[in-house]
Amino acid sequence: MGATSDTGAKQVVTRFAPSPTGFLHIGGARTALFNLLFARHHGGKFLLRIEDTDRARSTDQAISAILDGMRWLNLDWDGEEVYQFSRAARHAEVAREMLANGHAYKCFATAEELEAMRAEQKANKQPLRYDGRWRDRNESEAPAGAPYVIRLKAPREGAVTIEDHVQGPVTVNNAELDDLVLLRSDGTPTYMLAVVVDDHDMGVTHVIRGDDHLNNAFRQLPIYRAMGWEEPEYAHIPLIFNPDGTKMSKRKNAVAVDEYRDALGILPEALSNYLLRLGWGHGDDEIISREQAIEWFELSGVGRSPSRFDLKKLESLNGHYIRASDDARLASLVAARLGFELSESQADLLRRSMAALKPRAANLLELSEGAGFLFRTRPLELDEGAKALLEGDARALLAQLHTALDGVESWDTEALEAAVRTVAEDAGVKLGAAAQPLRAALTGRRTSPGIFDVLALLGREESLARIADQMTVPA
Ligand code: GLU
Repeated sequence: MGATSDTGAKQVVTRFAPSPTGFLHIGGARTALFNLLFARHHGGKFLLRIEDTDRARSTDQAISAILDGMRWLNLDWDGEEVYQFSRAARHAEVAREMLANGHAYKCFATAEELEAMRAEQKANKQPLRYDGRWRDRNESEAPAGAPYVIRLKAPREGAVTIEDHVQGPVTVNNAELDDLVLLRSDGTPTYMLAVVVDDHDMGVTHVIRGDDHLNNAFRQLPIYRAMGWEEPEYAHIPLIFNPDGTKMSKRKNAVAVDEYRDALGILPEALSNYLLRLGWGHGDDEIISREQAIEWFELSGVGRSPSRFDLKKLESLNGHYIRASDDARLASLVAARLGFELSESQADLLRRSMAALKPRAANLLELSEGAGFLFRTRPLELDEGAKALLEGDARALLAQLHTALDGVESWDTEALEAAVRTVAEDAGVKLGAAAQPLRAALTGRRTSPGIFDVLALLGREESLARIADQMTVPA
């Protein structure tokens, strides 16, 4: 069976249709990823549509946040992104076409009238729904020049079943849906109309989105049918929840992609891999490259229950990708976080330190923190933990270490280790007891990469000077 067997000969077209709210939500990023993978798997197209009809929120900044986040995550869309607001005239044109062919009608009900209608429905404990009062009335019954909206003449009988690729078959009775507004009295299109017209015009074959839009599908399908347009296939994916099962919210977890990049120091391939696994599975595989994901991705692998966000798991994947990452790339990511310009030799030192630093870092913050000792200036300011390590006999031990290290001929990790071991043995202490004060003197902290790596990276002169600085108790 070929990769396109389940979609026939038609080219697959998917889209991601974010509303610019100021940032790219990680749930949105996952939706985009699934759309991209599905399209790529089938050799189709993945499009991007910015749903910028809310003019107050859709600032350039909000739009950039989405585009930047997508690029950072390597979610490359095909062609130019489409801006929904710019298509308003086309949306209105379709509403008028539906009016002309009898699938829509003008509703002259005033706001007060609709308010009274709802109040009555409420009092009678009926569902709040437009009652179709203008559905069969003639325009001539309205006062001349009165404002009107255009409403869809939705089917009232029967039911609609969607064979959703994730949710399975879902049925809604048409009686439960009212005649939705397509065009407002000021001539602007509604969201429901805009989405359908855009999806149709963009040739979207598969609508893959969050399951908070499942109900919308039942309002959108009648528009396709009224226009005689080919209906898309649907896949509504469960939302992402907090670990405690509540809806993912800013208060409990970072929700913006750029927070994961900036504040949490996550690599894009780690976030992408994590988001893929969040709600989609392929056996027990955890580490999945983009290429592999494209090869494997099927909607049948998307789970039906909500996924729970687990930062620990993300960090563990991130640690994997940090270890797998090229040293030069990591060094430049760390350099950007240090807050000062590095000289060429410092940049080189940073790159050489990556091999020793990356095995212990779960994120770029830890990696940067781990690299901090390289650039501290003498005499080092010790933190409390490091100060504690230099109490008692430690300073005397440092003097012996200084002598031994000064005598090392070739400054490499093997020779350095041999020298430190000898000092420890002579002093009758374990290697760790010698290494800890050394670490405090060399890094100003109580944790660091392996002490012999630290010595090797700092070099003879700087190492001996930092040790000498701490040999005597400061005044
Ligand atoms: N703009 C909608 C959102 O950001 C998505 C619409 C859709 O995918 O149909 O939630």
